Amino acid sequence: MTEDPSPMITSPTSPDTDSVAPTTADHPPLEVTLAAPRGFCAGVERAIRAVEEALCRFGAPVYVRHEIVHNVHVVERLKRMGAIFIEDMEDAPSDRPIILSAHGSPARVHDTINARGMTSIDATCPLVSKVHNRAKRLAEKGYHIILIGHDGHQEVVGTQGQVDDTEMSLVETVEQAETMRFPEAPLAYVTQTTLSVDETTDIIATLKSRFPDIVSPAKADICYATSNRQDAIKAISPDKELVIVIGSATSSNSKRMVEVAREAGAQNAVLTDDASSFDWSLLRGLKRLAISAGASAPEDLVEEFLLALSKRYALAIDTLEVAQEAVTFKMPVAHNA
Ligand code: SF4
Repeated sequence: MTEDPSPMITSPTSPDTDSVAPTTADHPPLEVTLAAPRGFCAGVERAIRAVEEALCRFGAPVYVRHEIVHNVHVVERLKRMGAIFIEDMEDAPSDRPIILSAHGSPARVHDTINARGMTSIDATCPLVSKVHNRAKRLAEKGYHIILIGHDGHQEVVGTQGQVDDTEMSLVETVEQAETMRFPEAPLAYVTQTTLSVDETTDIIATLKSRFPDIVSPAKADICYATSNRQDAIKAISPDKELVIVIGSATSSNSKRMVEVAREAGAQNAVLTDDASSFDWSLLRGLKRLAISAGASAPEDLVEEFLLALSKRYALAIDTLEVAQEAVTFKMPVAHNA
């Protein structure tokens, strides 16, 4: 990964719209800034490709435990190709391949797969696996682990499921970090990879002031894609009347981007799955907006949104780029194939 911390204005990126379209009575002017980086991260690309390749190699159906990535469009497309999404391993037959989602799965899911001799492909993002491995090592060394994350999110469920219940406590807020009691053991913390960087910094600072010896990860668990997308949102938000984040309501990193936009000074910020579900009345009277997309949202949704905007407004589009990403991960192998 290479990163350039200085924001850079670049040329328009949409193939479907012009940078400056003529203004008419029907098409009032609208300035649109696109955030970069936005959209798919390396972990999401790898997980989606894992399902596509499994369908090619094994034929339909293949089973996927949990939404492979948190985006309704991606999931619906893979369903049409022959993927069947399940939550409970009992709903997966033993004689068909099972693919585990990018968010990571509890150890008991792997135990079930092994016990049933199933063919499996683990599409857990390597950056999530890194957190799992560290949590397991810390537990083996006798640490009590504080997991900073959102209760019930699939990644948190997966990380909690790497160790015994008594070895990990979940902290969601600064208030909990200030007041929660933990067992008498050396403490360490890990975090969900898709949190708000600023909120997590406050929680960690609170824990460190209470427990100066708490062990930190060598490198922050919040991943490069989450940090870069939040940095881009911070850079574009201050003078915007509206920031639109394209992504699904189940996507943690997309929801954090909306919060970050509001905190960074956008007058309003909303999450939308796509142009067809967007509340177009929000644009009434606006002159300047910004668009980004969560790490699980495909770029064609951004392009469709721009196309829908261009039918209503004379657009002037630019892109604000805060970092360049060149991260790729090796594809997961099929076990017991
Ligand atoms: Fe991996 Fe980060 Fe993408 Fe999650 S958001 S899949 S942790 S790169």
